[in-house]
Amino acid sequence: MIRCVSCGEEYDDNNVIYTCEKCGSVLELVVDIDVSRDIFEGRRDTLWKFKECIPVDETKIVSLDEGGTPFCKCGKLGSELGVNLYVKVEGSNPTGSFKDRGMTVGMTKAIELGVSTVGCASTGNTSASLAAYAARAGLRCIVFLPSGKVALGKLAQAMFHGAEVMSINGNFDEALEAMTALALEKHLYLLNSINPYRLEGQKTIGYEILRDLNWQSPDRIILPVGNAGNISAIWKGVSEFYEAGFVRDIPMMTGIQAEGACPVTNAFKKGAKKVVPVENPETIATAIRIGAPVSDIKALNAIYDSNGYSETVSDEEILNAQKLLARTEGIGVEPASAASIAGLKKLVDEGVIDKGETITCVVTGHLLKDPNVAIDACSKPSEVEADIDVLREILMNK
Ligand SMILES: *Cc1c(COP(=O)(O)O)cnc(C)c1O
Ligand SMILES: [Zn+2]
Repeated sequence: MIRCVSCGEEYDDNNVIYTCEKCGSVLELVVDIDVSRDIFEGRRDTLWKFKECIPVDETKIVSLDEGGTPFCKCGKLGSELGVNLYVKVEGSNPTGSFKDRGMTVGMTKAIELGVSTVGCASTGNTSASLAAYAARAGLRCIVFLPSGKVALGKLAQAMFHGAEVMSINGNFDEALEAMTALALEKHLYLLNSINPYRLEGQKTIGYEILRDLNWQSPDRIILPVGNAGNISAIWKGVSEFYEAGFVRDIPMMTGIQAEGACPVTNAFKKGAKKVVPVENPETIATAIRIGAPVSDIKALNAIYDSNGYSETVSDEEILNAQKLLARTEGIGVEPASAASIAGLKKLVDEGVIDKGETITCVVTGHLLKDPNVAIDACSKPSEVEADIDVLREILMNK
């Protein structure tokens, strides 16, 4: 069953519907968990190990073995910051971001509904993922991207997997508005995160973190927030497992935004229930360059209900954190993902995070998604002859 988050109106699962027909608010799937956590053990480590908790037809699954991502203890960085730190590495999904979790479920629903065309507006990763899953499902795929603002790796993926890619003269929010209008005219099935089935896939990040910690909750989960679907989804996941009695505690949801695109943090700091959109969002972290997040109500509920927090970080703090994580722990992430680490550092400094807290940072996408940012952050390799005497001289003098 699909339910409106604001007015509680209920809809049948087989409605193609993205927002509440009564009040216009966002929707969610209502899921009752009536299995024991033991049944997940011993299964292949993809997110479909939780299939009893994902409300789609399991005979129609479209999958690339997403989920089951690394959960890395980061002892060096953690002790530098005075916390017990784990990093959930979502860049290890098939197309290099957590969007694959949402897409496997969304695409499975698309097949169940019998649609022939799928579409999305995207800052990059949603389109890369949708293009791959549409190829696997054999469906037509339409993608709108904000012109000039998509990281190179993501653009390459969307085009290479055969999506019909259109570069829109406008920002993400404008591209999404246009794509949504076409979906409402029924030209295509919309697979942005306003589609509640996407979040049913992404909630498994929350499930996995609890399982990765051997059925304990971290004190806090920290992640970047753009369109605000992922923080809402992870909160839904941890809440479902908490209510099922699989864990005794629940984490504080902590959303980090870029200074130039921070409507959720602004709303949080005022205690508001909805955001005021940011007109011209700007940040080097293109995956979170979003001014009018569609899941604002869900995300703010997640933060308030979990006693969580929201903070902004500057582009400079993001780039420093990206390098710090890569060089202290060997984990390469794209700029948006590094916002979680930058946010952790800032909240420790501000005293919002206590020493000794157990923290899970979700790093959302792979370093190679945005190769230009990575290359620009380094100095060029020096050109040297293949002469051992010259090379030895250089090594010894370092
Ligand atoms: C999509 C994305 C985000 C933002 O997630 P939302 O659900 O839009 O808040 C953050 N990081 C990366 C790498 C992403 O692809
Ligand atoms: Zn409603």
